[in-house]
Amino acid sequence: MLINEALKLTSDLLRQKLKMENSIEALSDLSTIGIGGPAVIIRVKNEAQLSQVVNFHAQEGLKLAIIGGGSNLLFPDDGLLATGLILDGDFKRISVRNNYIEAGAGAATAKILELSQSQALTGLEFLAGLPGRVGGAVMGNAGAKNHGLAELVEEMELITLQGENLCLKREEIYPVYRSLNLPESLRGSIIKKVVLALRPSEADLVAKKIAQERKKRHDSQPSGPSLGCVFKNPPGKSAGQLIDSCGLKGETFGGAEISDKHANFIINAKMAKASDVWMLANLARSQVYQKYQIELFPEIKIWDLKAQELSLTQIDYWPGQEPKSQKAKRGQVKTPKI
Ligand SMILES: Cc1cc2nc3c(=O)[nH]c(=O)nc-3n(C[C@H](O)[C@H](O)[C@H](O)COP(=O)(O)OP(=O)(O)OC[C@H]3O[C@@H](n4cnc5c(N)ncnc54)[C@H](O)[C@@H]3O)c2cc1C
Repeated sequence: MLINEALKLTSDLLRQKLKMENSIEALSDLSTIGIGGPAVIIRVKNEAQLSQVVNFHAQEGLKLAIIGGGSNLLFPDDGLLATGLILDGDFKRISVRNNYIEAGAGAATAKILELSQSQALTGLEFLAGLPGRVGGAVMGNAGAKNHGLAELVEEMELITLQGENLCLKREEIYPVYRSLNLPESLRGSIIKKVVLALRPSEADLVAKKIAQERKKRHDSQPSGPSLGCVFKNPPGKSAGQLIDSCGLKGETFGGAEISDKHANFIINAKMAKASDVWMLANLARSQVYQKYQIELFPEIKIWDLKAQELSLTQIDYWPGQEPKSQKAKRGQVKTPKI
């Protein structure tokens, strides 16, 4: 009830003072795992609107939370006390210039992949079957194995949370495994547009590689609603295999389930809550640690009510929730099934 009132107040404030349309939406509809409470959502269609929204939030001390395709975000069950910002309109534009694709951060990665194929450009095939948008994929350096989209970025336009627009060149961007190391002063910045450097090839070859990547994904990953891999692979190891070897495939908590096809995927099997996913993730993390003394770090972003990123290592239990199951208690080792 309280959150609904707070959201209504924020929505009215944004409409009256910022004079921009917004709506209160269920975050579960904006996430591939279908989890999350209500939030105020603003869709900006061009640079002018984006600057206006960023500057207004900076001046009023309001929190902005940038949402892409929601395929890597575990939203809180109670909703967000931050304005969810979605890049729409002009930010979905994509075009080709020689061997470069220029893409708005709001464009679907599937669209740039399609364009690369039609233009016989190679380099993006690893995106086949990967959901989400360009901004989210660059920010998370999404990809396969040790490679990711951010490594192909030649130029990147950003707006900081203080409203400063800037353009970074390749040598100023430091992609690391499933993340982008931005300088401290640029943390939280919003990616507006990127230029990706590809290589010329033949359309048939690109199509073949895309089909291979798609098949690989189809054969190894579950189809139920998820956020992809929950944990990053520790150096030289597979997080999925480590979790599997603890006998956790098929383990459930509430409505969430560790996939029996790929143990690094948690599926929303039956109206799962964020707290169910959290409990299972924590179970996997603690059991892998107990068995191998290897710490698993989440690849997914877990947000609290203020859209602050939570770390599984910070606290054992979902804020405000008591453990419902003894087996989910950190530090308790379940007898492995193997
Ligand atoms: C079935 C499935 C398979 C997957 N397979 C893979 C895989 O093989 N490899 C892989 O790497 N990932 C994989 N993922 C995870 C996910 O698809 C990628 O991480 C994806 O690139 C996230 O993009 P998004 O737009 O959905 O980002 P979101 O989930 O919306 O956001 C992720 C983060 O990026 C930030 N963000 C989003 N847009 C911007 C922006 N414009 N500027 C600044 N920050 C922004 C958000 O604030 C958030 O912190 C998979 C997910 C699913 C559901």
